[in-house]
Amino acid sequence: MSSRGHSPVDRATATRHVMQANRSVDTSPEMRVRASLREAGLPGYRLHWKKAPGRPDVCYPGRKVAIFVNGCFWHRCPYCSLPTPKSNVDFWEGKFARNQARDQRNHQQLVDAGWTVLVVWECRLKKGRLEDTMGKVADEVRRAKLRDKGEGQVVEVGVPSAWRLAVARHRLSRGRR
Ligand SMILES: [Zn+2]
Repeated sequence: MSSRGHSPVDRATATRHVMQANRSVDTSPEMRVRASLREAGLPGYRLHWKKAPGRPDVCYPGRKVAIFVNGCFWHRCPYCSLPTPKSNVDFWEGKFARNQARDQRNHQQLVDAGWTVLVVWECRLKKGRLEDTMGKVADEVRRAKLRDKGEGQVVEVGVPSAWRLAVARHRLSRGRR
């Protein structure tokens, strides 16, 4: 087949096929989390359950565990610190501030109701880190069953504690100014 033989229609079809192929290979972070939970022998989760504040991506109502799979850009991962887009800065800053406020509100409501909130950042689910992170998520889900149901908590899973400390210190110093 000569390259001249490609009509625009052919090309569009070819593009569609490539996109479909990519979709099945490149699964989203949320899909990776779900698959790992099933592999860990923890099926029975609910997706975007309406009765839980913030409709967590994945949750186990019986264990009172909510899992939020956070995209680093939209939820402003403190560890990636992705830059704000250069144009429409006001729009982006407003959007990010609202996203973060919503996340905090949802987490607080769940914690107040005695839930364990697991925050899983997208960057912790990349190749080479996925197994480690999801191993910790599975541990937390199992542990929640044994825990006293009275107290809720937020756990960022798979984040090195040194990073967490650095971000907390940074926030503290910003608050003091
Ligand atoms: Zn990140």
